[in-house]
Amino acid sequence: MAIQRPRGTQDILPSTVGYWQALEKKMRQLAATYGFQEIRTPIFEDTRLFLRGIGETTDVVQKEMYTFPTGDDKDKTFTLRPENTASAVRAYLENKIYGQETLTKWFYIGSMFRHDKPQAGRYREFHQFGAEVLGSQSAVTDAEMITMIVQFFQSLGLADLNVEVNSVGCPHCRPAYREKLITFFEPKKEELCEDCQNRLYKNPLRILDCKNETCKKLSIGAPEIHENLCEDCHDHFETVKKYLTIAKVPFVINPRLVRGLDYYTKTAFEVQYTPLGAQSAIAGGGRYDGLVEQLGGPHTPAIGFAMGMERVLLALEKQDLLPKPEEEKKAYIVALGEAARQKAFAMVTALRSMNCQVAMDVENKSMKSQLKHANKIHAKYVIIVGDDELQRGEAVLRFMDTSEQETIALADVIDKISSLVKG
Ligand SMILES: [Zn+2]
Ligand SMILES: [Zn+2]
Repeated sequence: MAIQRPRGTQDILPSTVGYWQALEKKMRQLAATYGFQEIRTPIFEDTRLFLRGIGETTDVVQKEMYTFPTGDDKDKTFTLRPENTASAVRAYLENKIYGQETLTKWFYIGSMFRHDKPQAGRYREFHQFGAEVLGSQSAVTDAEMITMIVQFFQSLGLADLNVEVNSVGCPHCRPAYREKLITFFEPKKEELCEDCQNRLYKNPLRILDCKNETCKKLSIGAPEIHENLCEDCHDHFETVKKYLTIAKVPFVINPRLVRGLDYYTKTAFEVQYTPLGAQSAIAGGGRYDGLVEQLGGPHTPAIGFAMGMERVLLALEKQDLLPKPEEEKKAYIVALGEAARQKAFAMVTALRSMNCQVAMDVENKSMKSQLKHANKIHAKYVIIVGDDELQRGEAVLRFMDTSEQETIALADVIDKISSLVKG
């Protein structure tokens, strides 16, 4: 059997790559509007970065990483990045960005890898657009980031958004809350799902967002995070809500929203596109005030989000809102006979050097099949040159939309076509 692509990956063919490009373009525009600059980090990193950066108890680290030998160092392994925040922070530290600027705003677009169960809208290689703000502890930054995501979806025409926000506390208030949760769940331990039994002492907050029905029932009446926040976390959360209201961002407070990664502090948020059902989460993120320090850097409050591009495209497709790829005007030169073909080749080369999209036939095909090809590539203008035209120093210019034709001087073809194509 022929070799096939790995399960959970996809080929993005020319027929759909235009949607990706259009989406990426919009993402870049949005990022620029909000003052973010692009970074590109390696696809793979030292595995320890994710162990330390994402947290050893997370599903991502425990079950979903693609880890492989470095080829050089037997004591080390590399891992395909399962997300980009840890890499961004690593780059921030390694390049000593903290010494160069007090506020860093970065965005990224790229592939991430998780060995997860593939299903609709969930891939093992998937694409994320995300952003990180490093160096701001202001709650206004949190509100600004959530607003940015909501504005983005609105600009794509996606209504039916559900914006959930929560505060997951900080190292001052979370330990006591964790203890309360452990005390609450301990007597029910045997009834919890296997994952939650494992989480109970490591990360009991995650029991609160377990999708298992029994766990959901068992967590009714669990202590609420909002009643256990310290003053700083409480005030921070109030400010986030106030500024979201100023920005007219509709949101709901979900005290169960803890998200899967260990590093979040204070604000956590998720944006769902409800018509997508089970895979409705299309963006999410949160504050990670301790992560930079945890990875060996100076204390740097920070916040970030990531958006799943496959899911955004799925949502757009569902609503028939896929962005139309921009198509540039194209020209085609139909050449009949060897002499005409040589002339056409010279003209095509000259036009391409002027950034005009122009094609020609090199297989010595008939006039009819050359015109068919011109149609297929949506050429707007066709130049026809045969031996007779060549002798008279002329060419026929055909407008494909109207089928109108005119005779022009061969010497004018380049000027004419370049002005039509670019005009
Ligand atoms: Zn706190
Ligand atoms: Zn569970």
